[in-house]
Amino acid sequence: MIPAAPIPMQPRRWQQAWREAVRDPRELLALLGLEGTVPAMSDAAAAQFPLRVPRGFVARMRRGDPHDPLLRQVLPLDEELHPVPGFDLDAVGDGAARAGRGVIRKYRGRALLVSTGSCAVHCRYCFRRHFPYAKETAAAAGWDEALAAIRADRSIEEVILSGGDPLSLATPKLAELTDALARVPHVSRLRLHTRLPVVLPERVDDDLAAWLAALPWPVAVVIHANHASEFDAGVDEALAALRRAGAVLLNQAVLLRGVNDSVEALAALGTRGFAAGVLPYYLHQLDRVAGAAHFEVPDRRALALHAALRERQSGFLVPRLVREVAGDASKRPL
Ligand SMILES: *Cc1c(COP(=O)(O)O)cnc(C)c1O
Ligand code: SF4
Repeated sequence: MIPAAPIPMQPRRWQQAWREAVRDPRELLALLGLEGTVPAMSDAAAAQFPLRVPRGFVARMRRGDPHDPLLRQVLPLDEELHPVPGFDLDAVGDGAARAGRGVIRKYRGRALLVSTGSCAVHCRYCFRRHFPYAKETAAAAGWDEALAAIRADRSIEEVILSGGDPLSLATPKLAELTDALARVPHVSRLRLHTRLPVVLPERVDDDLAAWLAALPWPVAVVIHANHASEFDAGVDEALAALRRAGAVLLNQAVLLRGVNDSVEALAALGTRGFAAGVLPYYLHQLDRVAGAAHFEVPDRRALALHAALRERQSGFLVPRLVREVAGDASKRPL
């Protein structure tokens, strides 16, 4: 008998794409034909919060356009380093709402797990760019503390996997959590907040779809797209696979100056998302996190944009305009 050759461990396609992400701001600009043309690009800002962007996302940026809305979301700029009063390290009071390692308990019936610290893309406006991820992820110690906190609180009906990006965890790691959650009788809904189907659609592979389809609860997947150009055929395919697995798809966006602060951009985001089977959920006013002030859209302008959007879009394509206020019992409508 000839012994069967061991099957070599193949890195999955998404893990490969993850590792191949662009991390050097100069390489990013070179790929876009913008070498040496963006003087505000900042190595010091990149040292604080490194650039990271998957190549497939770069491919959706317009070559030769320094104002491309996708580029603006990821390129480290000088402006990030200028301190602006009111823009702090813990902008949304997550520190105060901690209920165990990686568990944030802010709203009735829901527990949010900071599943992991990693993201496939680093968004410059991210409100968690200063969160102490290394110590605070729910997955770190085999989910033990998170599970204990959820078991102990029977008011928790819905578990929200957030992050970082929960889909940056390998599927068996996610299954570890959901297998244990399936034995907690008061949990009856699961929600995932993830940007991966948009920035690295390869992540939605057959294993992930099979895991989702087998979950014992209704599942909502809240994707995070800020601009219609973030969608392409690969994203459509990933979203279709999530829907076939039974997930309800919603989008949350952040209102960002220079990215989507026009009624045309917001309308296009809603219609393009819907074409991919996604309903708009929230349009967030920026969390006032240190380093993100240059993305802020004043409330008055945000309200005017939202009103104009209501006048031209189907009602179900208009997201709720909200802001997160530390200590509130829900997101606060503007
Ligand atoms: C935003 C958020 C939720 C979910 O709020 P919804 O309004 O239900 O989308 C839950 N927990 C925390 C900590 C949050 O920040
Ligand atoms: S948590 Fe979301 S917004 Fe923040 S860097 Fe990750 S993907 Fe971007």
